[in-house]
Amino acid sequence: MEMPVPSSEIIARKAAILDRFRTVLPVEAVISEPAETRAYECDALAAYRCPPLAAVLPSSTAEVAAVLKICHEEGVPVVPRGSGTSLSGGALPTADAVILGVSKLADVLETDYDNRYIRVQTGRTNLSVTGAVEQDDFFYAPDPSSQLACAIAGNIAMNSGGAHCLKYGVTTNNLLGVTMVTMQGEIIELGGAHLDAPGYDWLGIICGSEGQLGVVTEATLRILRKPEGARPVLIGYDSNETAGACVADIIRAGVLPVAIEFMDRPCIEACEAFAHAGYPQVEALLIVEVEGSEAEIQEQLSKIVAIARKHNPVEVRESASEEESMLIWKGRKSAFGAMGQINDYICLDGTIPVSELPYTLRRIGELSEEYGLKVANVFHAGDGNMHPLILFDANKPGDLEICEALGAEILKLCVEVGGCLSGEHGVGVEKRDLMTAQYTDDDLEIQMQVKDVFDPAWLLNPAKVFPLASSESRRSGDVEEVSTVYNASETAAA
Ligand SMILES: Cc1cc2nc3c(=O)[nH]c(=O)nc-3n(C[C@H](O)[C@H](O)[C@H](O)COP(=O)(O)OP(=O)(O)OC[C@H]3O[C@@H](n4cnc5c(N)ncnc54)[C@H](O)[C@@H]3O)c2cc1C
Repeated sequence: MEMPVPSSEIIARKAAILDRFRTVLPVEAVISEPAETRAYECDALAAYRCPPLAAVLPSSTAEVAAVLKICHEEGVPVVPRGSGTSLSGGALPTADAVILGVSKLADVLETDYDNRYIRVQTGRTNLSVTGAVEQDDFFYAPDPSSQLACAIAGNIAMNSGGAHCLKYGVTTNNLLGVTMVTMQGEIIELGGAHLDAPGYDWLGIICGSEGQLGVVTEATLRILRKPEGARPVLIGYDSNETAGACVADIIRAGVLPVAIEFMDRPCIEACEAFAHAGYPQVEALLIVEVEGSEAEIQEQLSKIVAIARKHNPVEVRESASEEESMLIWKGRKSAFGAMGQINDYICLDGTIPVSELPYTLRRIGELSEEYGLKVANVFHAGDGNMHPLILFDANKPGDLEICEALGAEILKLCVEVGGCLSGEHGVGVEKRDLMTAQYTDDDLEIQMQVKDVFDPAWLLNPAKVFPLASSESRRSGDVEEVSTVYNASETAAA
């Protein structure tokens, strides 16, 4: 994986740039010692690392604006960072870039149960948003498996999803408004405590923009009443393909469980060893959860079990208690960590139409044999968001390269069957050079023109999302600044 050559000219100005940061931030919020910047040299795509020029940790939107203004004036690239759990290398720095971390911005600013929203600073972790309202029987729905650690900032940038997004939608469906600071240091408000806004859907552009258009410091999020009850059922099959066919049938039947999760044998074994959830030892396991009143739960479960039985399951078992349900989810949500204790792996994230699950799973098995690396599968099957984990040996020369090549083939397969390169982890650096498998040069040009409008000098997270060759002239400043510059006051008024 290539990154642009860092600017030696910027690196030579490091001391002067740090001095400027110290005029707007407390001394301890400017981190530049190599021993300390190591903490920021990678995210959860730990195969790629590079210490940044410096890391800064502002405590307010005003401080973020002051830092960005300096970076803009100095021409220094900025990599926004939440908790650094990105699996696509979205928060990976270059040696001439400043990491701008929002972890100190973690307050709840407002809670409004009548209108069902909460306003938070974006360094707040996903799970602690629910933590702030659960005593009043509310919750925040998007639930990435990393929710204990990941920040709302990263969730917005990656448009994150989770197990329960089949019913509740992903971040973009639960985001009402943001406060964002542009690269030029302007503070703007988009959306608000209400559904939609007149004019263009700016919020829709910002959500999922991977830190390329601005730094989001505050967010207004929809919160929901907790359901009366919820119950998962475990359905085991003797092949991945059959489990895939069952998922397609459940969705086709129009039943809407709150979650349908898929795990194959390597993941089942790793998760069972970790959580002791009582998973059956089968080739493929579905966790299907429904929620509502007891009567609603029973009605939905009976439909789902009837569909499941048509595919000759090895085992069908409803959770018998709250405790068992918690363990079932603990196992699933620990899948990546549990697998990581056994093997090095790269976690892919492609989306496919649900009806293509059986074919895609079979083809992944064939590709795995061809490349000689095992692939474990654990994913949000209900919305076709696949997470093949390619197992490799980081200490074996050449293994990472084979792993990358196999990963590319699998993601191209997702596109071929009518899906897309990323479901929820974003493009980052991981899928950057595969964008041409999904988009034409014209498509990419139009997308890059959107970034031109917000960040004409291409200083925000510049080496991500777009293939390096496509973005090179922009990153080196060869493209004329767009004449229609972004007008913050107009947008705020819209
Ligand atoms: C074990 C594990 C399980 C995971 N499970 C899931 C899952 O189920 N679903 C899912 O969607 N993801 C999952 N992820 C991926 C990851 O947790 C998400 O992408 C998450 O949203 C990243 O949040 P973060 O705060 O850690 O962001 P970071 O890693 O810090 O950054 C991610 C991206 O956001 C940008 N960014 C950060 N802060 C800002 C800001 N203030 N303004 C603008 N841009 C910003 C960064 O530049 C980067 O491009 C998982 C990761 C791990 C390690």
